[in-house]
Amino acid sequence: MENQNKIQEMKEKALKDDVPIIQDDALRFLLNYLKENHVLRILEVGTAVGYSAIMMCSVNENITVTTIERDEKRYLEALQNIKKLQLEERISLIFKDAFDVTLEEEYDFIFIDAAKAQNKAFFEKFEKYLKPGGTILTDNMQFHGLVDQKEETIPSRNLRGLVRKIKEYKVFLENHPGYITTFYPYGDGLAVSRKREG
Ligand code: SAH
Ligand code: MG
Repeated sequence: MENQNKIQEMKEKALKDDVPIIQDDALRFLLNYLKENHVLRILEVGTAVGYSAIMMCSVNENITVTTIERDEKRYLEALQNIKKLQLEERISLIFKDAFDVTLEEEYDFIFIDAAKAQNKAFFEKFEKYLKPGGTILTDNMQFHGLVDQKEETIPSRNLRGLVRKIKEYKVFLENHPGYITTFYPYGDGLAVSRKREG
């Protein structure tokens, strides 16, 4: 089967299984950003079934991705998908809670796409592995449109808590002295935070 068909099949299965893979227009922005900024070494927090990691590899054959997933079922499915596309040499999958991971190397780009309430904690944990001039991209800044919704119209206490966390993260990014952050409305909302040089 052609790679294009394998990717299409993987995407359809993920959508059918309610795996929250990145949306098309956010993905388009992400891939274009990787290309324009000559990104080669990527760290991803939140693999799910490997869809975004595999798509990021499609930009350029020299790209490598290290990606972290704590859910065993998804991790196993990601392994299979990566194998199907013969990307075992370029994608390193870490089956662990991201908070238990220690890394050895530095990255050009970090994609934060895991538990949304933990974005700030992920940012603080992993930004030391980002090269100066590198970028951290965070997905789901709108959280299905809920972030811009009036708080009293959000149905559950849990969701309100989550939305509050995302708003706090947004303020944290805006005020971080080491980064310049731009927000984009693509997909479920993206934050692009570029690390200042030196
Ligand atoms: N990046 C993927 C989607 C990721 S969905 C794509 O676009 O294709 C978010 C994933 O993050 C889920 O599979 C969830 O299990 C994982 N996750 C959430 N918190 C995590 C943590 N602390 N450590 C590792 N993985 C985590
Ligand atoms: Mg996402």
